[in-house]
Amino acid sequence: MADNFFDKIRQILLQRKKEVKDQISDVKQKDPYMQEYLQDGTRNMDEMEEEVADLQERVTLDAIQEDLTKESKDIDAALKNIKEGDYGVCEVCQEKISIERLKANPTAKTCIKHAE
Ligand SMILES: [Zn+2]
Repeated sequence: MADNFFDKIRQILLQRKKEVKDQISDVKQKDPYMQEYLQDGTRNMDEMEEEVADLQERVTLDAIQEDLTKESKDIDAALKNIKEGDYGVCEVCQEKISIERLKANPTAKTCIKHAE
Protein backbone atom coordinates (compact mmCIF):
# COMPACT_ATOMS: atom_id res chain seq x y z
CA MET A 1 0.00 0.00 0.00
CA ALA A 2 1.29 3.44 -0.90
CA ASP A 3 2.16 5.95 1.80
CA ASN A 4 -0.20 8.54 0.38
CA PHE A 5 -3.07 6.11 0.90
CA PHE A 6 -2.30 6.10 4.64
CA ASP A 7 -1.99 9.88 4.60
CA LYS A 8 -5.39 10.14 3.01
CA ILE A 9 -6.98 7.74 5.50
CA ARG A 10 -5.29 9.63 8.33
CA GLN A 11 -6.78 12.90 7.08
CA ILE A 12 -10.23 11.32 6.87
CA LEU A 13 -9.90 9.91 10.39
CA LEU A 14 -8.71 13.19 11.88
CA GLN A 15 -11.56 15.06 10.22
CA ARG A 16 -14.08 12.50 11.46
CA LYS A 17 -12.59 12.63 14.96
CA LYS A 18 -13.25 16.36 15.04
CA GLU A 19 -16.83 15.88 13.85
CA VAL A 20 -17.47 13.19 16.45
CA LYS A 21 -16.07 15.43 19.18
CA ASP A 22 -18.37 18.27 18.11
CA GLN A 23 -21.33 15.92 18.01
CA ILE A 24 -20.59 14.62 21.50
CA SER A 25 -20.55 18.13 22.98
CA ASP A 26 -23.70 18.88 21.00
CA VAL A 27 -25.45 15.86 22.52
CA LYS A 28 -24.29 16.85 25.99
CA GLN A 29 -25.84 20.27 25.54
CA LYS A 30 -29.14 18.73 24.50
CA ASP A 31 -29.33 16.60 27.61
CA PRO A 32 -32.49 17.88 29.36
CA TYR A 33 -31.14 17.04 32.82
CA MET A 34 -27.93 18.87 32.13
CA GLN A 35 -29.82 21.86 30.73
CA GLU A 36 -31.95 22.25 33.82
CA TYR A 37 -28.96 21.77 35.98
CA LEU A 38 -27.10 24.51 34.12
CA GLN A 39 -30.09 26.85 34.22
CA ASP A 40 -31.16 26.47 37.82
CA GLY A 41 -28.29 24.74 39.50
CA THR A 42 -30.80 22.20 40.74
CA ARG A 43 -33.06 19.57 39.33
CA ASN A 44 -36.74 20.54 39.41
CA MET A 45 -39.55 18.09 39.72
CA ASP A 46 -41.61 18.72 36.63
CA GLU A 47 -44.99 17.43 35.76
CA MET A 48 -45.06 13.71 35.15
CA GLU A 49 -45.56 13.98 31.39
CA GLU A 50 -42.63 16.25 30.88
CA GLU A 51 -40.55 14.07 33.13
CA VAL A 52 -41.25 11.03 30.98
CA ALA A 53 -40.43 12.95 27.80
CA ASP A 54 -37.17 14.09 29.34
CA LEU A 55 -36.34 10.56 30.29
CA GLN A 56 -37.04 9.25 26.81
CA GLU A 57 -34.94 11.95 25.24
CA ARG A 58 -32.21 11.18 27.71
CA VAL A 59 -32.19 7.49 26.80
CA THR A 60 -31.92 8.40 23.10
CA LEU A 61 -29.15 10.90 23.73
CA ASP A 62 -27.29 8.39 25.89
CA ALA A 63 -27.43 5.86 23.07
CA ILE A 64 -26.18 8.43 20.55
CA GLN A 65 -23.42 9.47 22.89
CA GLU A 66 -22.41 5.87 23.42
CA ASP A 67 -22.17 5.29 19.66
CA LEU A 68 -20.11 8.45 19.19
CA THR A 69 -17.78 7.55 22.05
CA LYS A 70 -17.27 4.11 20.54
CA GLU A 71 -16.55 5.63 17.13
CA SER A 72 -14.11 8.05 18.69
CA LYS A 73 -12.25 5.13 20.28
CA ASP A 74 -12.22 3.25 16.97
CA ILE A 75 -10.76 6.32 15.26
CA ASP A 76 -8.04 6.62 17.92
CA ALA A 77 -7.22 2.92 17.53
CA ALA A 78 -7.01 3.29 13.73
CA LEU A 79 -4.76 6.36 14.03
CA LYS A 80 -2.52 4.50 16.47
CA ASN A 81 -2.33 1.55 14.07
CA ILE A 82 -1.36 3.84 11.18
CA LYS A 83 1.42 5.27 13.31
CA GLU A 84 2.67 1.85 14.33
CA GLY A 85 2.28 0.32 10.88
CA ASP A 86 -0.43 -2.12 11.94
CA TYR A 87 -3.24 -0.42 10.07
CA GLY A 88 -5.34 -2.38 7.61
CA VAL A 89 -4.68 -5.81 9.12
CA CYS A 90 -7.59 -8.02 10.16
CA GLU A 91 -7.47 -8.62 13.91
CA VAL A 92 -8.97 -12.09 13.49
CA CYS A 93 -6.92 -13.66 10.68
CA GLN A 94 -4.07 -11.09 10.36
CA GLU A 95 -4.74 -10.84 6.61
CA LYS A 96 -4.63 -7.45 4.91
CA ILE A 97 -7.99 -5.71 4.71
CA SER A 98 -8.86 -4.65 1.15
CA ILE A 99 -8.33 -1.00 0.24
CA GLU A 100 -11.89 -0.78 -0.99
CA ARG A 101 -13.16 -1.83 2.43
CA LEU A 102 -10.88 0.62 4.22
CA LYS A 103 -11.99 3.43 1.94
CA ALA A 104 -15.63 2.68 2.75
CA ASN A 105 -14.95 2.14 6.44
CA PRO A 106 -11.61 3.60 7.59
CA THR A 107 -12.04 2.22 11.12
CA ALA A 108 -12.59 -1.37 9.96
CA LYS A 109 -10.69 -3.75 12.23
CA THR A 110 -11.45 -6.94 10.36
CA CYS A 111 -11.45 -8.18 6.77
CA ILE A 112 -14.74 -8.63 4.97
CA LYS A 113 -14.86 -12.31 5.92
CA HIS A 114 -14.63 -11.48 9.62
CA ALA A 115 -16.89 -8.43 9.57
CA GLU A 116 -19.47 -8.47 12.36
ZN1 LIG B 1 -10.08 -11.76 8.69
